[in-house]
Amino acid sequence: MKTKTIGDVTIDTIWESGGPYQVPENVYPDVTPEIVERHRPWMIESCMEEATGFLIFAFQSYLIRTPRHTILVDCCVGEDKERPHRPNWHQKKWPWMANLLAAGITPEDIDFVMCTHLHVDHVGWNTQLKDGRWVPTFPNARYIFAASEYEYWKGAIAEQDWIRDAFNDSVLPVVEAGRADLVASDHEIETGLWLEPAPGHTPGAVVLNLEAGGDKAIFTGDMMHHALQVPEPQLSTIFCSDPVQSAKTRTEFLQKNADTGNLILPAHFPGESAGRIVSRGDCCMFEFDKS
Ligand SMILES: [Zn+2]
Repeated sequence: MKTKTIGDVTIDTIWESGGPYQVPENVYPDVTPEIVERHRPWMIESCMEEATGFLIFAFQSYLIRTPRHTILVDCCVGEDKERPHRPNWHQKKWPWMANLLAAGITPEDIDFVMCTHLHVDHVGWNTQLKDGRWVPTFPNARYIFAASEYEYWKGAIAEQDWIRDAFNDSVLPVVEAGRADLVASDHEIETGLWLEPAPGHTPGAVVLNLEAGGDKAIFTGDMMHHALQVPEPQLSTIFCSDPVQSAKTRTEFLQKNADTGNLILPAHFPGESAGRIVSRGDCCMFEFDKS
């Protein structure tokens, strides 16, 4: 993604990985062949591999530079993590840190790390392995977690194996190092940069709003994983804690933001991942920002 500018604030992506991911049926239990066929023509232009029909996903962080602070939004899968349940993410190395440095930022420069939710692919770079221990990657940063999200996962790890590893190696070490701020779901990081509840994908998921110079951008995390969910907001993923609430949150968000010009930055959209919600007849579409 090319650098975006909102007033006096710049936004860049820090890319970890991406590419053809899965066929729609493996991500969206309620999708039908008719829905896929209806949207295939525009999807193969930007976000579906034509030969396989795989949806294209990206795993990326967003870097926000305001005049006062440098903020990292979401932390991807991370390196060296033990993920035996996810072979593609197990003990991996990625170009993510090289991409951060290429953006002119060192780990010491980050003032805030903000996770939209605490899934494994949003907390990875929170920590790194140093001398056999997981320590915060960004030594000067405060880490912003919605308290309700943190409390939910803290309780849930007793029951769900697959999330325990990520919580234990990428969230708890930050809390134990005293670097975490467990905040209300409408917390303001600085003037014009604030959280807003977006429950459904996970119980305490939030989006991050940015307003500067009369323009607005919204970092939506996993409220939607793919542009197919913009015209078809009823489609929740297999990863959603509450698929019904997820669809409700998404539908309301799309209606509220359609034709406003607000820049929308979802975590997993590929390529020119930012864009705008535009109405087309009785539904909405995602218009990728190529500027
Ligand atoms: Zn995700």
